[in-house]
Formats: sequence, C-alpha cells, structure tokens
Amino acid sequence: MTASSPDIKTESPIRAPSSVPVDDAVLPFEVDALDLRGRLTRLGPALDDILTKHDYPAPVGRLLGEAIVLTTLLGSSLKFDGRFILQTQTDGPVSFMVVDFQAPDRLRAYARFDASRLTPGAESAALLGKGHLAMTIDQGPDMSRYQGLVALHGGNLEDAAHEYFLRSEQIPTRVRLAVGEEWRGGDGKATHRWRAGGLLMQFLPKAPERARQADLHPGDAPEGTAVHAVKEDDAWVEGQSLIATVEDVELIDPDLSGERLLYRLFHERGVRVFSPQKLQAKCSCSRDAVASMLKSFEAKDRAEMVQDGKVVVTCEFCSSVYQFTPHEAGVEEGAAS
Ligand SMILES: [Zn+2]
Repeated sequence: MTASSPDIKTESPIRAPSSVPVDDAVLPFEVDALDLRGRLTRLGPALDDILTKHDYPAPVGRLLGEAIVLTTLLGSSLKFDGRFILQTQTDGPVSFMVVDFQAPDRLRAYARFDASRLTPGAESAALLGKGHLAMTIDQGPDMSRYQGLVALHGGNLEDAAHEYFLRSEQIPTRVRLAVGEEWRGGDGKATHRWRAGGLLMQFLPKAPERARQADLHPGDAPEGTAVHAVKEDDAWVEGQSLIATVEDVELIDPDLSGERLLYRLFHERGVRVFSPQKLQAKCSCSRDAVASMLKSFEAKDRAEMVQDGKVVVTCEFCSSVYQFTPHEAGVEEGAAS
C-alpha cells in the first residue's frame, strides 16, 4: 500500500488491504507522503462487556464508550508496562468517569451519573458539562507520574483531546470517536451489542516549523488586535480534510475492516499499517487487593462497614462482589454496630 521505492529492498511488502475486520484491537499506521502517523481502534466484545456489566442508560454508555475509545487511542502508545488513566470530573449529569488502561492490553472503566438529570438523546457534550479531564501516566512505584489536565468547557471529548494536544504537546492532532448500538433480530428476540471505533492522527514532520497550528479560539483576542493568521502546512491541511470525511458509521461498521477504512481514506497517498495490538476488558481487582484496602482503613470505618454480620465490597469497575466476615475484614469483636 505504500508508494514503491524500488531501490530500497527493506521496504515492507505491498499488499491489498485485508477485508477481515479485527475487533478489540488498535491498528497503528503511517502516511509517509503527508508525515502523518496514527492509530485506528475498533472495539466490539470488550466494550460491550464493560458497558453491559454496568447496565448503563444508553446516553451514559455512549459517553463512557467515547472515553474508552479515547483512552485506547492514547494509552496504546505506551511502550512500557505502565498505566494510562483518563478521568473526568464535571458538573453535568455524568459527573465522573474513569477509564484505566493497563499496558499492554487491559481495559476497565466506570461512570457516575445522576439518572434524574438524563434526557433521552442528550449529546455527549451536554452530559459532560463543565469541569476538567485528567490524563495520568503511571509507570510504576519507582517512576514519576505524569499528569496532564485540560479544562472541559461545554465541548465533547474530541474537543478536549484537540485542546490538550494543541496546548500541552504542541503536536497537530485530530481525533475521531464513535460509539453505536447494534441490534440484531433472530430466534424471536433482539440482541443488543455496543460497538465503537476511533481514529487518532498526528502530523509529525521532520522540520518542526512545519507543525505550526492555527489557534482554536481566535475569537478571544481583544477588539482591534490584528489577527495573527497562521498558515498551516499543506500536508496537514490535506490530512485534516481527509479525516473530516470519516463518518461515525464507518468507524463502527462491523463489516468494514480497519485496513479497508484506512485504505479508503489514504490510498492516494499510500498508507502503511503495522501489526495490530489486541485489547481485552479485564479488571485487576482481587480478593487479596480488596482485603488489603480494607486493612488500610481506620478501625472505626471498617466497623461501620459491617452489615448483617458481614462486610461486602463491590468493585466499581467490574461489579465483582467480595464478601468478608467481620474477622476477615479486621473488625474487632464487639466493634461492629
Ligand atoms: Zn474489578
């Protein structure tokens, strides 16, 4: 699929795009002619597993799905055995979300929301409201944590990602996120499945001065200020116009392979794909981890957790229920109310 260069023998083989869709995977790609690098993700069973376990109302499932897609696109670039955590804290009906990606392939997530404030068909931006989005990279106990923060002022998660890359990383970046529900009939009952897809594309030219970007909010300048027009690089302008043509349905279509979608977008320029990275929905909670968390609580708080003669802890990520006797939970005899 890449432009051929006959004198370089190490060039990866040119082949037709595979028509086999691969779900729960991230497909890295590059478009050399435009200095673009990116990742395409398709999520099927892993996303359905996370959202169905929680039985979220559809608008909440959709928004958390978008956060999961964004996390997948960003976290899958981690090369070490680390963790990428995306969190939102906002004043909208969905007040809190957390998505935890543990390299190389584990995903888990949950959301908190106020059901009385949900309206059918509400847009993701309205569900989020205002607040902030935090991205944390944790490389283990001996390494420093990195945290990036971006304000959410009424936009959606795509807007937040664009703002983050413009202000913090200064890498021209475009992100597309799409989440959908798939209904299938048969045997007299309809089955429902969540699906999602996303695309991240970055402009990484060798000459850094080519990466200049137009500001997102030219309207903020005081009146009378001369507008500082930034002319974006032609390659980046072309890349942005190509990604703007991607429709949500193409990102989530279960019958359209990721390779075919990339080929559809970039075939005129030549696109090279790399090995897909598989993902899975898997929580890292365990009885031992919950027990040691209980031990870290104050004795008084532990005692207050005893109900009907037992301590029950439910994992917020995966809804697993862990039951302990007061003794196992470290509650002293007679302390429980
Ligand atoms: Zn769990």
